[in-house]
Order: sequence, then C-alpha cells, then structure tokens
Amino acid sequence: MINSQKYNKFEKNYKELLIKMKQQRKIQIFTDFDGTITLKDIGDELFKDFGIFEPYHSQLVKGKLKIDDYWNVVFMNLRAELNKQKIAEYAQNFEIDKSFLTFFEFCKENQIDLFIVSDGYEEYIKPVLEKYNIDTIRTFCNRMIFNDNGKILPEFVYASESCNCLSASCKRNMVLTKSEPESILIYIGDGASDFCPAQYCDLIFAKKNLAKFCNDNKIPHHPFKDFYSIYLTLKNLISKKKLKTRNQAKILRKKAFEIE
Ligand SMILES: [Zn+2]
Repeated sequence: MINSQKYNKFEKNYKELLIKMKQQRKIQIFTDFDGTITLKDIGDELFKDFGIFEPYHSQLVKGKLKIDDYWNVVFMNLRAELNKQKIAEYAQNFEIDKSFLTFFEFCKENQIDLFIVSDGYEEYIKPVLEKYNIDTIRTFCNRMIFNDNGKILPEFVYASESCNCLSASCKRNMVLTKSEPESILIYIGDGASDFCPAQYCDLIFAKKNLAKFCNDNKIPHHPFKDFYSIYLTLKNLISKKKLKTRNQAKILRKKAFEIE
C-alpha cells in the first residue's frame, strides 16, 4: 500500500513536471568536458604522460605564459610515438561521472539542448564519448593536426579575435553561435576556460576555479558535486517555475552580438 502510494505520488509529480516543461521556454545547456564530465582532466594527463607538462602549466596558471604559447610548447614536446590511434586508446582508460549518463537521458527526454564546449581536443574527447555511447552529443572543441613528419600541431577552430579570455578557442563564441534568442542558457564548468562563457549564461553551475571566479565577481551560481546534483537543482527550478533569464547575461549577449 505504501509503495503504491509512493509510486502514484511519483507519477503525479513527474506528469506535473512534464506539463511545466512544455510551458517552459527552451533550455540550452553548455557543459565543459575535462574535470566536469570526466573525473580527471584528460588533456593534462595526456601531456603529463606523453610530453612535458611542467613548468609550463604552472607558468600558464600564473599568467606568465599565454595560452597559445602554452599549447605550442607542450605540443612541441610530445613524444614522437604518439598518433591518433594511441591517443584514442589512452583516452578510453578514463572514466566519466556516471550520473552524466542519467543527465544526458533527462535532457533527451525533455527536449533540452545539450552541448559540450571544450578547450580540449576532439582526438581524446570523441573516444570517451564513444566508450559510453553518448557520441551523439554535439561537441565544440580544438583539433590536432597530424603532420607527415610525425609532429602534432594544435588547431583552434573557434579562436576569437574579439575576445581576450583565457582560452585558445573562446567558448563564448561556441555558446553564442548555438544559442537561440528566446532560450534560457545554462552553463556547467570548473576551470579558467569557463570564466568567459559562463558570464553569458542565465544559470551557472560552478565548482573549483569557476566557483571562485563567480564568488570574486559576484556572479550568481549554483555549486555542484556531480551531474546528479545538477539534475536535482534543475528539476526543482523547473517545477517551481524559477528558471529565468539573468539580466546581466542578457546585456552581455546583446553587446557581443553588436561587436561580432
Ligand atoms: Zn572569450
């Protein structure tokens, strides 16, 4: 009896949520990959294991090395044995936050747009998504060029001249290109490459350096542990009709479109 009551209540809640979702404006979610979807930063690990990571990474973090120069020097130091196949095999050893799979299903069922925006590289991101059967997620990231002489070079497909942020490819442009005028934009991230794009979004889920950045700059955000906690917060906001555009983000979006 108790169980059936519980189930009925659950079913009622779920139906109400679906009705509210239909009345709701379109939701578009942009999420970082390394350290946000994956448990470890695969990009960092790859360069640690197959090249020279320090002192360059510390110099980058301290602002002594520009991001483009950082990428150029770490790519130059990659071991010659590394190729596309080896990177793919290496990447498939890494794990993702398992609740991301539930989150992905939740988005699909509710017609929520889900995009990955990364300052990492397609060559290791795609194999991870394939491992978990989620490679249908639209992904915006950098690419590697494999030269005949065995050298690998970075290619920043989404680099932006109108932005001076901490990314080689500005994720802001990835977000703005895909955003629709009437949508509510949500950003999920953890690091320096997320500072720029997060500011343009209505709702921000932040941990680690991104949370610190939001605190320092008084940008409202929700802390998160994993994708299950994001799912719970989001579900709650939707059912209470509290998902709204953020004025500051709207103004920034308008300005960016005027400059571009
Ligand atoms: Zn930027």
